[in-house]
Amino acid sequence: MAIRLQILTEDPKEIELIERYWAVDEFGQYLEKVSALTELIEMAQGVTLTSFIRERCNAFDENQVCPTCAELIEIKNRSQARKVPQPSIKLCELCQKDQDDLALAAKKTKAAELERQLADYSRKQSARTVDYSAVPDAHVLLLLALDRAITPRLANGGFTVGDCRGLVPRYVGDFVQQLREAGLVLDDPGKARPGTYYWEGEEIWVVSDQVVYRLAPDAQSRGADEVIRSLSDRVYTDAEGLFNLWLDYSVADVMRYLDAQCELYNHDLSEQELKEIKSTLRSALETYSVSQLWSVVWKVVRDAASLANREYYNRPKAAATIPGKIRRNLEKVQRESIELKAWSRPEQHPAGTLGMVLGEILGVDENTSGHMVSSLVTWFTGQGCSPGVEAALDEPIRELMTIALTRDIGASVMLRFAELIRAGHDVGFAIEEIGEALRS
Ligand SMILES: [Zn+2]
Repeated sequence: MAIRLQILTEDPKEIELIERYWAVDEFGQYLEKVSALTELIEMAQGVTLTSFIRERCNAFDENQVCPTCAELIEIKNRSQARKVPQPSIKLCELCQKDQDDLALAAKKTKAAELERQLADYSRKQSARTVDYSAVPDAHVLLLLALDRAITPRLANGGFTVGDCRGLVPRYVGDFVQQLREAGLVLDDPGKARPGTYYWEGEEIWVVSDQVVYRLAPDAQSRGADEVIRSLSDRVYTDAEGLFNLWLDYSVADVMRYLDAQCELYNHDLSEQELKEIKSTLRSALETYSVSQLWSVVWKVVRDAASLANREYYNRPKAAATIPGKIRRNLEKVQRESIELKAWSRPEQHPAGTLGMVLGEILGVDENTSGHMVSSLVTWFTGQGCSPGVEAALDEPIRELMTIALTRDIGASVMLRFAELIRAGHDVGFAIEEIGEALRS
């Protein structure tokens, strides 16, 4: 027999049953059926013959040996037995226990190492302080907006990216990441949920939604509250930084609108397509306002939707036309000096606290053209029109005003001027455009 039995009972009836259960013929076929054997003995309700036998006898299969110690492998029932000798994948119980113990010990060592590394990381982070008076203007605005989005958590402890939803209409994580890369917010592993940081091979990985952030300590040891207060007294000087922040913010505001429109028409855009659109919009925002670009997006998404219903077209193919359509639409607008319509802000798309802070400081909103924002930022940061630029405007303005007054059309000239500025053109262009129209 290929099964070696270790009988644990002394009851002759039970011994007989066990031997009959495991008995095989020369081909390894069991001699008796389990159902027939079950009737031979009285068992408590719910007990199966297999478990009854297992409790009274350990069975080892001579056809399976432990790959580590070469001892026979214990089997629990008939179906685990092998008819011919074959290498076992399973370890014997003792070797399995040794292996489990080793694995558990290794796991504990890894967990302790993770804890040690995170503590070390936290210590280093806390030791680094920030001179908040030297933080760039754009980051000051972001911190003020962040404080407003999660108040009072920026000052009083930790926050997650999910807490910052009110900051911007989209790409919240990217804005928080800007502050993190600048060393202004730190992650605080001690406050994060267990499992936030984990081993992936030899590297520590992190569940980014669960990371808890906090404001970096101040070089002058002031509390976070005081740091934020001092930031609101900032005198801004970095025109380029502020304009770039406005662009980042405005791209997010238009993309959020695009998302909603695409969802409405079931357009599914790929990461690559979205990236392409983002960069087109960013460069268009140097000229136009957010609300004007909403109208471009509105039109293009609808065009794509009607395309999708046409023969030879399908949804993915139609959606794929969106990036190119936005670009061509804007090129046409510029080439033919078309005035873009401005959409009003959808009620369900709030501006976010960054939009509010930009509005309070620069006096801009979704209807302010990029051209205008650029001028405002330059003026606001005291980097106003350079004397050269202003001087270059002297002559054409004098000429325009003279014509306007002579012909007594001052009002219509000024209204046309205002219109062009609102449409996103700069002063030089507007003067030239009106001058040309008057001369022709
Ligand atoms: Zn073994």
